[in-house]
This record gives sequence, C-alpha cells and structure tokens, in this order.
Amino acid sequence: KLIMSLLPIVKWPNPLLKEKSEPVKVVDESIQKFMKDMYDTMIHENGIGLAAVQVGELKRILVIHIQDNERYDDVEGNTDISTEPFFVVNPKIVKESEEYIIYKEGCLSFPGQFANVKRHNEITVEYLDFNGEKQEVHATGILSICLQHEIDHLNGIRFIDHLSPLKRSMLLKKLKKQGIN
Ligand code: ZN
Repeated sequence: KLIMSLLPIVKWPNPLLKEKSEPVKVVDESIQKFMKDMYDTMIHENGIGLAAVQVGELKRILVIHIQDNERYDDVEGNTDISTEPFFVVNPKIVKESEEYIIYKEGCLSFPGQFANVKRHNEITVEYLDFNGEKQEVHATGILSICLQHEIDHLNGIRFIDHLSPLKRSMLLKKLKKQGIN
C-alpha cells in the first residue's frame, strides 16, 4: 500500500466553510489521487463523510464510507449502508422525499459537537463516480443524511446553519471552550 497522504482538516471558524465549491471539469488522475487522499484523511479522522472544502479545496467532491457500524442501527431506513468507499463528484439532488428524518449529526470541521438536524428521508442523487462515469444513487437512512450533509458543504452550508440561533450559539460556545481551534 502507498504511503497515506493525510490532509489537514479545515475547522470552524474558517470562512472557507461558507464558500461555494466549483464543479470538477474532468475526473483525471490528479482528481483521483486527491479523492484517495481525502478518503485516507476521513478514515484517519474516524469520519463517515468528507467534502473537499473540508481539506481546503473548493471542488464539488465528496467521499463517504459508512462502515457497517452499530452506531447507526437506530436510524430508520438504513437499507443502503455502503460497505465500499463511495466517491462522489459533482453531485446533484434530483429527487427528495416529502418525509423527514431527524438525526444527531457531527462534523469533522466542528470536532466533538453534535446536534439534531432535520433532513429528507430519501433522496436521489446524480453524480460522477471515481472513473468519471455518470451514476445515480437512491439513498435512505444514514446514507441519505450523510449525502445531504456533505452536499450542503459544497454549497457553503454547515450543519450548524440548520439550527436555531440559540442552539447554534450554544454549540459554538462549547466548541470554543474545548479550545481545539
Ligand atoms: Zn461536515
């Protein structure tokens, strides 16, 4: 195995997290190498999803790997837990369910902080895969939640932006107290 390249995680309050990412023109070798580095970084940080902006690149790229983990047993509709690394380029949500799901989310850019966020229960996403091929995925449960969280990152939306101002300020106060940033 090649030596891992771990990338530094962009953390709050870095304003980059509010920026909109640009579509990838061609999924070439350099993009593939970058996706592998993102993947290694995410696994190293014990994350289940990572957007390129979280390692400082404003590109519409996500990596996801929801490993079959009892941590997500309580999430309704978990039929699509991916057991393989999932590479997603230029994702576009083409369908959203009318039903919603609430889940306590965390984010590598907000270490140690969790909050309930309401998301669509099911979504359908068009994207390009690791080889640049057009694909479509119908996601439910934790995969749907994770995809929506990561696609938000590509649009400069952080999970705290879904919280009430009071909950958001409480979370950020706790994060400051941790002194990690
Ligand atoms: Zn996040």
